[in-house]
Amino acid sequence: MTDQAGAVSERLAELASNLATVRARIAAACTAAGRNPADVTLIAVTKTFPVSDIVLLSRLGVTEIGENRDSEAGPKAAAAAAAGLALRWHFVGQLQVNKAGRVVGYADVVHSVDRIRLAEALGRRAGTAGRVISCLVQVSLDEPSLAAGRGGADPAEVPAVAAAIAAQPSLRLAGVMGIAPLGQPARPAYARLRQIAELVRTAHPGAQMLSAGMSADMGEAIAEGATHVRIGTALLGGRRPFVR
Ligand SMILES: *Cc1c(COP(=O)(O)O)cnc(C)c1O
Repeated sequence: MTDQAGAVSERLAELASNLATVRARIAAACTAAGRNPADVTLIAVTKTFPVSDIVLLSRLGVTEIGENRDSEAGPKAAAAAAAGLALRWHFVGQLQVNKAGRVVGYADVVHSVDRIRLAEALGRRAGTAGRVISCLVQVSLDEPSLAAGRGGADPAEVPAVAAAIAAQPSLRLAGVMGIAPLGQPARPAYARLRQIAELVRTAHPGAQMLSAGMSADMGEAIAEGATHVRIGTALLGGRRPFVR
């Protein structure tokens, strides 16, 4: 075996082992919550990792891929498509209105719609591209004073953002997303998110997704009804600190 082939099979084994551990954590959390593991979808958040890892994850049966920056996600989605991989792309990062046109080119789901203007821009651009994009309202779970820079609509604004998505013919309102607050217990924050998700579902019965839970807190999120967990570190390993 060449060194390169050896490195690939070593990485494949590492990803397979991490994937088994993550699936076991999801299954255990589902058992504890009396839920069916089939109702929790794993999204592999591959930011900072190369397309070669996405190829290996796909070989292991992972089809849902998350990315948080357009400048990185666009080229990776194009390379994966060129390699013939059938994947669903989830855009999970903060999104500027002027990037909406690019993101609708590859994203199947945008988790981070947190303002009306962004919903309108995504709807317009998806229409032009002839695509229908599923969108989640990102809800801020931070104290208002700490929320700056982390994205997310204030809970009071969520119904209006949800309605703005639902009003766009090229968008489908799919549910809500949240990120646990820094330095606070995740469970109560996810409990608040679940209540907001239920309110949104009452007005929009198709909005069934609840995107919550990362490597450190997937158990708490599943206990509070997460339908989609977004897992990076536990699957792929530690990310190098990113310096802008
Ligand atoms: C990076 C990221 C994740 C994954 O985080 P890990 O702690 O590495 O599992 C999930 N959601 C969002 C929005 C992210 O940016």
